Amino acid sequence: MEMEKLVSLCKRRGFLFQSSEIYGGLNGFWDYGPLGVELKRNVKEAWWRDMVSGHDDLSVLPGAPDSYEMTGLDCTIIMHPQVWKCSGHYDLFADMMQSCRQCKKLFRADHVWGLMRETEWANAIAETLASNFDAEQIEVDAEKLAKWAKDRKGGRRLAPGLALVRHPENTLASLQQSLAEMKADSFPVLLQHLATEDKKTSGLLTPCPECGGDLTEPREFNLMFETIVGALKDESNKAFLRPETAQGIFVNFKNVLDSTRVKIPFGIAQVGKSFRNEITPRNFTFRSREFEQMEIEFFCHPDSSQSWYKYWRDRRMQWYQDLGLAGERLILREHDPDELSHYSTGTADIEYAFPFLPAGEYGELEGIAHRGDFDLRSHMEGKLDEKSDPLVVQLDEHGKPKYRGSGKDLTYRDELTNERYIPHVIEPSAGADRATLAFLCEAYREDSAPDDKGNLQTRTVMSLHPRLAPVKAAVFPLVKKDGMPEVAKDIYRALKPKFSVSYDEKGAVGRRYRRQDEAGTPFCITVDGDSLIDRTVTIRDRDTLEQTRVRIDDIESEIENRIQS
Ligand code: ATP
Repeated sequence: MEMEKLVSLCKRRGFLFQSSEIYGGLNGFWDYGPLGVELKRNVKEAWWRDMVSGHDDLSVLPGAPDSYEMTGLDCTIIMHPQVWKCSGHYDLFADMMQSCRQCKKLFRADHVWGLMRETEWANAIAETLASNFDAEQIEVDAEKLAKWAKDRKGGRRLAPGLALVRHPENTLASLQQSLAEMKADSFPVLLQHLATEDKKTSGLLTPCPECGGDLTEPREFNLMFETIVGALKDESNKAFLRPETAQGIFVNFKNVLDSTRVKIPFGIAQVGKSFRNEITPRNFTFRSREFEQMEIEFFCHPDSSQSWYKYWRDRRMQWYQDLGLAGERLILREHDPDELSHYSTGTADIEYAFPFLPAGEYGELEGIAHRGDFDLRSHMEGKLDEKSDPLVVQLDEHGKPKYRGSGKDLTYRDELTNERYIPHVIEPSAGADRATLAFLCEAYREDSAPDDKGNLQTRTVMSLHPRLAPVKAAVFPLVKKDGMPEVAKDIYRALKPKFSVSYDEKGAVGRRYRRQDEAGTPFCITVDGDSLIDRTVTIRDRDTLEQTRVRIDDIESEIENRIQS
């Protein structure tokens, strides 16, 4: 599927709009249109229902080590600034950033080489290299290449920072050497090798992915949005928009324990907005600056935490599969030991092969992390030292904890055994917008269906799972006369309080079907001549195109069953 087609459908049919579009838009911010808002609500509601409100706490679920309880929270976006100091976000929630001295664009340092693969200029060099380079002889026509680089076709030159232009001989010598040794399969890979591993000899700097210009050295950039609370605009009133919903759960851990009768193991869930001042927001809603998260902090005894980690990892994977991401595009990826944070003994990502990513690459939908007791301990004592033993509190120059935690007792006492401990935490952390985008990508398909005259026509279908579909059913009178609209309107009104339904009587029925296919409506209910005689209608299935006759009195239960199945 081409991403442009989905983006254009999303705009045309009202799934997603650029925020503030009439003023040219704001990078990294997106609005959900009339269909999009329903879809995203359904994603969040399915998550809440499946993880929280519909959870059976009396049974041991398949794969779970024990029965457990689930409860929810809704915390504020702006919290006490100390929360972010103790959580580590104030000091560590930063990406390395580089900017281009020529075109002034900003890039996340770890994205630069990925972006390069998509650039027109890198591909143009790759082509030139390919035509000037004989793999057998490992020779590059230095002169030709330098000239090409200088008078680059189309008038735009490679910027002066690129050593290929400045000292082609050096670069080309290393290039030959590298090509001989590494058999790079693409030019950007080779370039990356020269600019990182072989920087000294090649003289090649990391070029700007946009224009090929000079990039500055990477520098830290904290992703938290700052704001001021109160009238005085000074440091002491500085606060932050939360970059994740999780911390609200940790700081309320004691409140939940004290106000409910929950016992470990149990989970607290929260859905809400988070904000990150991403350096390069891109790929539609995938990397936005304002987005929604669906997070669970699951508290358990340290001894059973590994089993709970595995349970949540598999359960969350199953959730996406059950809702339609059933194919090979969805993967579960366990982190390698060197990818893990120091406090984590296990982290897995659920990833999806989004169509805007190069073949073989996946984007994260959700991370499931075993976080040990890091968070509760930090809020008790203070910020922990990233590099040293996680149990050691980071000290300032006076030997005091660098950031003082709340000083509150966030331990848990087991009433039966009297054991007191800091619970371990398993955190399944999902993004509502990324999940919604993955469901949209997976749903998009083009096939053919017969029109009113029986001729096959191409149709675009959003095959969303019925639970997620923005509109569950559309009601049509076959024609706008003979009492059919009246019957259809009665059906519409009867269904409306139960499901999101729409009514359409305009145009040929085939075109009405296709409009609904594009919106992802799984069922179309058509009232025809026979309906007036025997009080039955046809229900047409969006995916199979099958039409079944159903009694008007049974429509509601029929739709209900089909949505759940
Ligand atoms: P990435 O590496 O892609 O920046 P992350 O590992 O920083 O993501 P987490 O901090 O684990 O992400 O956040 C949990 C989830 O929140 C992610 O799996 C993703 O679904 C969602 N998320 C994080 N950042 C963004 C963003 N900028 N836009 C949309 N969703 C996001």
